[in-house]
Amino acid sequence: MGRNRILILGGTTEARKLAEALAGRAELDVLLSLAGRTATPLPHPVPVRSGGFGGADGLARFIVQEGIELLVDATHPFAPRISANAAEAVAKTGIAGFALRRPAWESVPGDRRTSVADMQEAVKALGASPRRVFLAIGRQEAHYFNAAPHHDYLVRSVDPVDPPLQLQRVSYVLSMGPFHLEDEKRLLIDHGIEVVVAKNSGGDATYAKIEAARELGIEVVMIRRALPANMPTVDSVAAALRHIDQVAFPAAKRGV
Ligand code: NAP
Repeated sequence: MGRNRILILGGTTEARKLAEALAGRAELDVLLSLAGRTATPLPHPVPVRSGGFGGADGLARFIVQEGIELLVDATHPFAPRISANAAEAVAKTGIAGFALRRPAWESVPGDRRTSVADMQEAVKALGASPRRVFLAIGRQEAHYFNAAPHHDYLVRSVDPVDPPLQLQRVSYVLSMGPFHLEDEKRLLIDHGIEVVVAKNSGGDATYAKIEAARELGIEVVMIRRALPANMPTVDSVAAALRHIDQVAFPAAKRGV
């Protein structure tokens, strides 16, 4: 009996951990897909391919050509296009598919959270008076804040913001999580930050900035997730492993 071929759409810690958990299993043949945005991605324990597929149709073609039997959408909760493409390609090809999405961060007592729908609303939520802003949303959407040049920005991303922002008062810090509470507090204090802008990504790796803001009484403008995944969804790597063994490739189907 051939090995079951799984395509994991990645770019997240969960995708890497799922790949790690599946890498040693002789009955599975796992391929991980990255968008190719990060210049030096972390090493992965399974074969990796990189770059877009050319929309939902391109992904469907790839699935057929490569003999993929299960698609796991383990992309970031703020990567809506690839997730929509994944659901469409699964529907088109009739293979099994599910999404792995970490839960969103719930507000807890002490948080000063302003919840907004998107980047434009986040820009408005900063207000008319100049403030010192920590922009922790990654580099791709930082350009929205060119619309509010009266603030003073600290921008953090993995790779440089390119082109740089058209702002008078901006500084950049390049770093990749996981981040730790004491370091995040130090960063907020040293830069005199008055408001943090963050996406509701969920997970542990980048939560420290939210905790740090809470402890220091700093407001967080939090961008909500747009849409739930359009596929069956699990919220942890452990649940994804169960789904693979019990739903996608149950023992009978694996010929065990
Ligand atoms: P997006 O807007 O949903 O995707 C844009 C296009 O990039 C997709 O249509 C697809 O191109 C390609 N793509 C995205 N993820 C891919 C993958 N895993 N493998 C192959 N192609 C992929 O997503 P994005 O916001 O640009 O994010 C890109 C990647 O970074 C995602 O994989 C995501 O998991 C990761 N990431 C994103 C964020 C974030 O905040 N957005 C944060 C951390 C990590 P085609 O249509 O040509 O196939």
